[in-house]
Amino acid sequence: MDLKNRVAIITGAASGIGKDIAVRLAARGGIPVIADLNLAAAEATAAELRTSGADAFAIAMDVANEEQVEKGVADTVARYGKVDILVSNAGIQIVHPFVDYPYADWKKLIAIHLDGAFLTTKACLKHMYAAKYGRVIYMGSVHSHEASKLKAAYVTAKHGLLGLSRVLAKEGAEYNVTANVVCPGFVRTPLVDKQIPEQAKQLGISEQDVVKTVMLKDTVDGEFTTTADVADAVLYFAASPSNALTGQSLVVSHGWYMQ
Ligand code: NAD
Repeated sequence: MDLKNRVAIITGAASGIGKDIAVRLAARGGIPVIADLNLAAAEATAAELRTSGADAFAIAMDVANEEQVEKGVADTVARYGKVDILVSNAGIQIVHPFVDYPYADWKKLIAIHLDGAFLTTKACLKHMYAAKYGRVIYMGSVHSHEASKLKAAYVTAKHGLLGLSRVLAKEGAEYNVTANVVCPGFVRTPLVDKQIPEQAKQLGISEQDVVKTVMLKDTVDGEFTTTADVADAVLYFAASPSNALTGQSLVVSHGWYMQ
């Protein structure tokens, strides 16, 4: 289960879950490429990792912009000669009741989650196929399997990633390219911190009750999932030596959703 010198493009790695995946990959000798919309934060993350002795590289990338995705992947391959792992992690959340969900918000969320997963995968695949090696991990969610109120676009996008990964599992197999989806429960990151007051307002309950009675209600221990819980699952798939697990999703949610 060796990740040494494996080059991994991790989207959305300037913050939250993606950042911890980068940190943990670097600690195992891998080379994280921090691809994020927020270049200043991506550069700060890469600089932090280099200080601890790792190799790391920051690139500006809007995952929903084909040109930027192609350029970011080309720059990575120009620098390291390969891309072994893609973690398609960048994401946002926008909550509204279905009946009021603005079409523009729907399109924005779907573009980042689904167009982003498609474009980054497509750009990496030609290099992975040529090398006959690749590990692609999509950041799903419990919402890849379960629905919640107010999350029409997010639930749709996260379910969609399961289909995308299954197609890639089939097409990529002859090139030793695997595909998986990691599906976290609620993780205390800026993405979730933003939702707590929004959901409190929309559901007419206190912020404390959003955490207790909405977010963590069905966990076995009333605990948030941690970035470490998620990163360990991602790196397990990233280091997987064969096609044995390809096409599978893994829920990491403290028992909220059991497959
Ligand atoms: P976060 O807000 O902490 O980090 C998201 C990162 O993505 C940020 O650095 C942001 O700049 C970047 N980003 C946003 N739009 C982008 C774009 N168009 N192109 C490139 N980068 C972009 O969020 P997080 O909680 O770490 O979420 C990461 C992923 O995990 C998302 O896909 C999210 O849906 C998923 N997820 C999160 C939770 C949770 O509870 N936090 C649970 C399940 C799944």
